[in-house]
Amino acid sequence: MATLIDGKAIAKDIRREIAKEAAAFTEKYGVKPCLKVILVGDDPASCIYVNNKQKACEKAGIDAETLRLGAETKTEELLGLIGKLNADKLVNGILVQLPLPAHIDEKKVLDAINPEKDVDGFHPMNAGKLLEGEALLEPCTPKGCIELLKRMNVEIAGKNAAVVGRSNLVGKPVALMLLRLNATVTVCHSKTKDLGDVLRRADIVVAAAGKPGLVTGDMLKDGAVLLDVGINRLEDGSITGDIDFESASKRASMITPVPGGVGPMTIAMLLKNTMLAAEAQNA
Ligand code: NAD
Repeated sequence: MATLIDGKAIAKDIRREIAKEAAAFTEKYGVKPCLKVILVGDDPASCIYVNNKQKACEKAGIDAETLRLGAETKTEELLGLIGKLNADKLVNGILVQLPLPAHIDEKKVLDAINPEKDVDGFHPMNAGKLLEGEALLEPCTPKGCIELLKRMNVEIAGKNAAVVGRSNLVGKPVALMLLRLNATVTVCHSKTKDLGDVLRRADIVVAAAGKPGLVTGDMLKDGAVLLDVGINRLEDGSITGDIDFESASKRASMITPVPGGVGPMTIAMLLKNTMLAAEAQNA
């Protein structure tokens, strides 16, 4: 049976470490590191995510404020607000909660964030730096995946890694990060002909397709390390991942549960990025 990768406990350790860094920063500069979260509209899931982010910041000694805008807010208004936050020296990080209402030009908004304050790591400048292997601010969920592997002492160099999904949010960045750490990486996607054929050669599998139970035990190599990024809500309201936990955990050496695996790491990495941004801006 596979060892469970307890993302909740690991994220808690990281948040404790960040609280120490935040306290040292506040002592040194006389102000707390500061994150501004912009929420447009009242999508219930987004409201929960934003509240969780704000609470986690406060607990770690990071000053966080959520700026709540009406669903009818126009792209230009949002750009105006981002311009002000970009110019405010006391604001270290800016996060725009996605998804934005359909009438807003999401790309224009994300591109307007000062790359030095882009704690989600979505700005093309930071994406380009990630490609070059030298980004300070990397997307939080992929960064959380790598941190889990490191803290579980999983050897990455020279291993075969398979990433299921090629989104800009998760699949592509996590593939780049694994490549930088010298894994041999294969990226699978919806047009991949035989997923099992690729996965059966993988020592590390990162599943980020948003398809419940897509990866089953028979597709896996014995002893593989499995990170399940998927968050899929079932009809009964429960949440499940992209990996069929029951069959996969019989083959794997390590596996993340859903919930309680990769999910908690995303917020921990947001706090980390806010600290990194604050320190870089004050260096
Ligand atoms: P997305 O829809 O943008 O991308 C999904 C990717 O999966 C695509 O590249 C697609 O080609 C691929 N795919 C779809 N069906 C496939 C199949 N049958 N075989 C192989 N590949 C297939 O999704 P995303 O934003 O990358 O998110 C993926 C999942 O991760 C979702 O469930 C999302 O909710 C979850 N997620 C979790 C966190 C977290 O904090 N844990 C953060 C972001 C996203």
